[in-house]
Amino acid sequence: MHTFQVKTTAHSCAVDITDRIEAALAENSARDGLCLIYVPHTTAAVTINEGADKNVMDDVLKALDTLVPWQAGYKHAEGNSAAHIKAILTGGSVQAIVEAGKLALGTWQRVFLLEFDGPRTRKVFVQIMNR
Ligand code: ZN
Repeated sequence: MHTFQVKTTAHSCAVDITDRIEAALAENSARDGLCLIYVPHTTAAVTINEGADKNVMDDVLKALDTLVPWQAGYKHAEGNSAAHIKAILTGGSVQAIVEAGKLALGTWQRVFLLEFDGPRTRKVFVQIMNR
C-alpha cells in the first residue's frame, strides 16, 4: 500500500490528487490492473469528476453546502455533523482502472480529495492490484 499526505487549505475544498496517485503507480512499477484510492477519514472524501473547469468542483461544494447546512440542529457535540454527512454522501473511496501505468480516466476526469472540515492534513491510501 502506498500512502501520501495532503494539506488542505480551506474549510471546504477539492484538491486534485491525480498526479500524486500516478506518481505512486510509477513508484510501484504498476502496469495494468486496478487502483483503490481510499481516505481514512470521517470528514473527507474522494471522488472522480471534472478537472478541466475549476468551477465544476466549486459548484459541487456549493451545492453540498446547500443540501447539508453547517447548522441544522445536529446532536454531535463536535459541531461538524455537516462534514460527516457530506463525507458519507460523496464516499471514502474510488476505484480506477490502471492501463500502461496510468489511470484510465476520461478526458475531463481527475481524482479529487474532498475536504469538508479543514484545513487539515489528510492521508490518502492507494492500493494497487496488478493483473
Ligand atoms: Zn465530528
